[in-house]
Amino acid sequence: MNQTILITGSSRGIGKAIALALAEDGFDIILHCRNRIDDAKKVSEEIKAMGRNVRILQFDVSERENTKQILTQDIEKYGAYYGVVLNAGLTRDNAFPAFSDEDWDKVIHTNLDGFYNVLHPIIMPMIRRRDNGRIVCISSVSGIIGNRGQVNYSASKAGLIGAAKALAVELAKRKITVNCVAPGLIETEIIDENVPVAEILKAIPMGRMGNADEIAHTVRFLMHKQSGYITRQVISVNGGLC
Ligand code: NDP
Repeated sequence: MNQTILITGSSRGIGKAIALALAEDGFDIILHCRNRIDDAKKVSEEIKAMGRNVRILQFDVSERENTKQILTQDIEKYGAYYGVVLNAGLTRDNAFPAFSDEDWDKVIHTNLDGFYNVLHPIIMPMIRRRDNGRIVCISSVSGIIGNRGQVNYSASKAGLIGAAKALAVELAKRKITVNCVAPGLIETEIIDENVPVAEILKAIPMGRMGNADEIAHTVRFLMHKQSGYITRQVISVNGGLC
């Protein structure tokens, strides 16, 4: 049976590291990006060189109809997926009183609505496979402890945890697991000049940022066939931050 995994936001950063790790483990890969198709193509070349099947989908996860159409067509053509990693996400940090409506909406529509927009078209075909399945949501330490300047982002990432846990209950008897990985401070492009890195590092017992491969390692563990009894969990990968 086809063992294909979709990783949203895998043109770069954590998603790219996850895609490469899962390809190394023998899975066929669906890369995904919003704008940076050239970056996704480079990742695709690396995966092809490993001898895996790979294709790229491009859509904005906050656009419901387009997301549904592209995923439905892909499944009709290639079949249902074994796994999905909901990794695409963004930040619009600011003090709460200074938020624009757009700062709030953009983050919620991408990070939280993205859960529904991506999973809803995928889930019935996954169930109909009647085989093991894996869903991993990339949440954040911010969704667990709440971070200054991230009221929107913390809400979206906490929302993901609630959604994942509820879906885990619904899918438990179908052999489909649903878990979250909650990264701490990971060195990628999302850590821009607005992130007070020096201040956060003081709160991290390990005193360093994490790297994308350390998140990928946890996701590949959850994707493994033998991880089938782990569901409804949040695994933090954060150097001891909380
Ligand atoms: P990056 O900014 O490096 O990469 C973000 C990825 O998501 C890109 O592939 C981007 O596509 C895609 N993306 C962003 N918005 C959309 C959208 N609306 N529709 C479709 N794709 C989109 O981020 P990271 O790799 O650091 O983050 C990955 C995930 O990990 C995110 O969910 C983030 O919230 C989470 N996280 C990250 C932490 C960190 O410290 N880095 C900490 C905790 C959680 P494109 O390249 O086309 O723009």
